Amino acid sequence: MEYEVVIGMETHVELDTHSKMFCACSARFFGAEPNTNVCPVCLGMPGALPVINKRAVEFAMMVGLALNCRIARHTFWERKSYWYPDLPKGYQISQYQYPLAYDGWLDVDVRDLSTGNWSEESVRRRIRIRRAHLEEDTGKLIHVGDKSYVDYNRSGVPLLEIVTEPDIRSADEAYAYLSTLQQIVRYLGVSTGDMEKGAMRCEPNMSLRPKGSDAFGVKVEIKNLNSLRAVREAIAYEIRRQTALLERGEAVQQVTMGWDENRGVTVVQREKESAHDYRYFPEPDLPPLEVDEAWLEQVRRRVPELALARQDRYRRDYGLSAYDAVQLTGDRAVAEWFEQVVAAEPSEGSDRRALAKAAANWIQTEIFRLMKAGGIPLAEIASIKPTPRQLAELIGLVDRQVININTARQVFEEMFATGADARQIVEAKGLAQVSDVDALRQVVSDVIAAHPNQVQQYLSGQEKVFGFLVGQAMKATQGKGNAQLINRLLREALKS
Ligand SMILES: [Zn+2]
Repeated sequence: MEYEVVIGMETHVELDTHSKMFCACSARFFGAEPNTNVCPVCLGMPGALPVINKRAVEFAMMVGLALNCRIARHTFWERKSYWYPDLPKGYQISQYQYPLAYDGWLDVDVRDLSTGNWSEESVRRRIRIRRAHLEEDTGKLIHVGDKSYVDYNRSGVPLLEIVTEPDIRSADEAYAYLSTLQQIVRYLGVSTGDMEKGAMRCEPNMSLRPKGSDAFGVKVEIKNLNSLRAVREAIAYEIRRQTALLERGEAVQQVTMGWDENRGVTVVQREKESAHDYRYFPEPDLPPLEVDEAWLEQVRRRVPELALARQDRYRRDYGLSAYDAVQLTGDRAVAEWFEQVVAAEPSEGSDRRALAKAAANWIQTEIFRLMKAGGIPLAEIASIKPTPRQLAELIGLVDRQVININTARQVFEEMFATGADARQIVEAKGLAQVSDVDALRQVVSDVIAAHPNQVQQYLSGQEKVFGFLVGQAMKATQGKGNAQLINRLLREALKS
C-alpha cells in the first residue's frame, strides 16, 4: 500500500528585542553569566508586576503580516499553568483563545534535495498558518552529573509560537517551510533565526495514512531538532520507520521522539502521556492588548518585500535563473545591494536585463569570493567597496568594450581594495582595451610569423591551436587586446 505523510509544524521563534517580554532585563542572554539578566519579574517573585514590551508585539505583528495572517484587534494574555523548575512563576504568560495572528499562509518553493544537487525545478506549495501567538520563554536547565542547575537568563525572553495546519507532505516540504520561515524572520530583522543557538526551535508532528484517505493516522512528535538538515533527515527517517511498521501490520505508537544526530535515528523520548490541563485563565496583572488601524498600518509599512516575491520579480523582469534569484535573495542586504546596481542607468546599446545579469554574476563570483576571503558577512555587503553605482560603471566599461572582462576582474580587485572608480584605475594604469584595428593587425601578423609550427598545425585542422594563437596575441597586448577583434583578425589572417 502507498502511504502519505501528514505533517504539522510548531515553531518557536525567539524575538531579538533589547529587553524581555514583561520586564526591562536584557533579552540578549547568549554567552552571559548564568542568572545575571534577571529581576523579580522574570524570577517570578510574588508581587512583581509585568509590563508589555511594545517592540515584541510589533515584531510578532510583522511576522503575522509576512505570513499573510489576520491580526487580532483585541486580545488578552492568559496564564498557562504548569509546574517545572525552569518556570519560576509556576505559569507561563501566553495567548490561548485569541492569538495575535491567525488564518494565514506561507508559499514555499519545494525542491528535491535528495540528490544533493541544485534543481532549477521546484513546486510551489501553500502551507496554511493556523496561528501565531506571543509568550515568554522559560529558563534553562543544565544537568551536570547527578546535579541540575537552572539559569533564568532566558526566562521571559519574548517567544513567538507559529503553528501550521497539517499541510506539509514530505521531508523536503518541511525543509522548505522552515528555511523560508527562517529567512522571513531574518528579513524582518525580528530574530536571528539561529537554530543551532535555539533562537528558532521546531517540533514537527507527523502521521502516515493510506494515500487517498482523509483520516489521520497516529501522531508522532519529534523534538531536539537543531538544524534545518536535522529536520529533513529526522522526518525522512520517521517516514521510513513508520512505513515499515505499517507494512508489517504493526501499529504506530503515539510517542514523542528525539533525534539522535550522531546515529541518524529517532529515539523514543516519552510514551504517550495524559493531556495536560493547563487551566488557562486571563492574566490579571496585564491589560488587554488593543491593536488599532493606525498602529497596524505603521507596522505594515515596516514589512519589506520578501525573498520569494523578489525571486519571482528577478526571474520575470531580468530573466535570471532560479539559482541566481535564490542566491541573490538569500540575504536581504545582498538583494538590496543588487537592486541598487540594477537601478543605475544601463549603458548605451545595453539594457537593464543585461545589467542585472552582469550584476548577478559579479556578486556571486568576485564579490562573494572577496567578502569571504576578507571575513565579511553577507549582511554587511553595504559596507564594502565598490558601491553599487561604481560596479554599474565597471559593467558599463565592459559593455562599451573599453576594457575586456579579464581586465575588469583585475580592476575590480583594485576597486575592492581601494574604493577607487573603475575609470580612474583604467586611466591611471593604462588598462584601456586596445581596439585599434591596425595595431592589432600588426600584433596578429607578428604572432603568425613567430609561430610557424602552430600555424601549420592549425591549417592541418587542429582547431584548438587557434586558442593558443589568440593567447599569444593577448599576451603581446599585455592582456588589453579586444579579444573579439583579435579573434576576427586572426581568422582572417590565417585564411589568407
Ligand atoms: Zn527581568
